[in-house]
Amino acid sequence: MVDFSDSPEQAEFRVEVEAFFEERFPEALRISSSDDPRTQFERAQAPDRAAATKEWRNALVEKGWIAPAWPEKYGGADLTPMEQFILNETVAEAGAPRMGVPDVGSTIMVHGTEEQKAEFLPPMVRGETRWCQGYSEPGSGSDLASLQTRAVRDGDDFVINGQKIWTSGAHVANMIFALVRTDPEAPKHRGITYLLASMESPGIEVRPLVQMSDAQGFNEVFFEDVRVPVKNAVGEIDRGWYVGATHLDFERSSIGNAVGQQRMLDGLRGFLQEERDAGSGRSRLGQPGAPRTELADRYIEAAVAKTLSQRVISMQSRGLIPNYEASMTKVFSTEFNQRIARTATKLLGKYGDIRDRENKWSPMRGRWATMYLSSVSSTIAGGTSEIQRNVIATRGLGLPRG
Ligand SMILES: Cc1cc2nc3c(=O)[nH]c(=O)nc-3n(C[C@H](O)[C@H](O)[C@H](O)COP(=O)(O)OP(=O)(O)OC[C@H]3O[C@@H](n4cnc5c(N)ncnc54)[C@H](O)[C@@H]3O)c2cc1C
Repeated sequence: MVDFSDSPEQAEFRVEVEAFFEERFPEALRISSSDDPRTQFERAQAPDRAAATKEWRNALVEKGWIAPAWPEKYGGADLTPMEQFILNETVAEAGAPRMGVPDVGSTIMVHGTEEQKAEFLPPMVRGETRWCQGYSEPGSGSDLASLQTRAVRDGDDFVINGQKIWTSGAHVANMIFALVRTDPEAPKHRGITYLLASMESPGIEVRPLVQMSDAQGFNEVFFEDVRVPVKNAVGEIDRGWYVGATHLDFERSSIGNAVGQQRMLDGLRGFLQEERDAGSGRSRLGQPGAPRTELADRYIEAAVAKTLSQRVISMQSRGLIPNYEASMTKVFSTEFNQRIARTATKLLGKYGDIRDRENKWSPMRGRWATMYLSSVSSTIAGGTSEIQRNVIATRGLGLPRG
């Protein structure tokens, strides 16, 4: 029998976190985007929100709660993974902006040297560095180990030539972690190195790519004779594949946000009930043929998602890095987001298709139509669902490779 209740220490920590939120979480951030009459652009530009976001980050930095499980000397608070989970739960329940550190930080924590930790981790906690991930290439996505971007040693530097693609946030990033080929003669999983580089290095060019949801998060990144110090290689040179894999395990296990998904469902249910009671026509609840039970299924899945996250947390508490367990969380959570968006648009009827935040008929400021489109990409990013299923089959279930 698994006991999901807090231990006395965890309960005490929960009270401390709630009191901190009560005292320090700024008023300007407490209004959720669906209740806020401003457009996204206006919200982002609003001086009250920008100032409040900064104030909130500073409050978290003070406590060491941006990277709560990291040692204090790198800006963390030495929390256990379970305490970190309690903190994340409270963040999600309060609808507070997530202000964690990028997964590259956790990778440096596992594989980096003391010098690399001291150089790269504290600025990450203070929010001074924005990282992007240079893994995929035009010919190397799922088969990532076939990557061709070349790094040739020249004295104390590597000289990089090649191209990355689908690089999220490269247009606003000032740092990149990339997998590059350092030994073209070796078998493909060998001869790869995990490198950290400044995006301001001469020879890097970023070209944007636009998504179907109109967001402009993707880019192509070109490297032409880019010099990167050899000391920026994380882990052993030519053995970066394993460093990159640790990174993916962190990335996949942190993608799920079970509490946030539950909160989303609560928002949807409240809206549907209010609209049904008001007879506005924007809720199919109570109408013949409406897929009401789908909503119940989504709530059950939210509980499953939370249990999967708890499994990952319990492994991290024992100092283990989840592997196929992270793939399970990733595949479930990202496909779950798609199911939430489908259920929402069905229950909102035709109104669910309206994406324009300003349209007076758009339910919850177009959130569900937007999510319907944007949730497609998350089953591709970080490794497709098919690849996660391959990992679960081979490493989790011990099935032979197909
Ligand atoms: C929103 C988003 C953000 C991203 N951000 C980044 C980023 O910041 N940095 C970065 O480096 N990359 C990023 N990517 C790229 C992403 O990692 C790749 O798109 C992904 O790994 C798939 O590679 P691919 O697009 O080349 O597809 P392919 O590998 O060509 O796959 C095509 C199809 O074939 C299937 N397939 C391929 N091999 C197998 C197999 N062995 N078994 C079963 N099916 C298989 C795939 O599942 C897929 O359906 C991002 C992608 C998205 C959508």
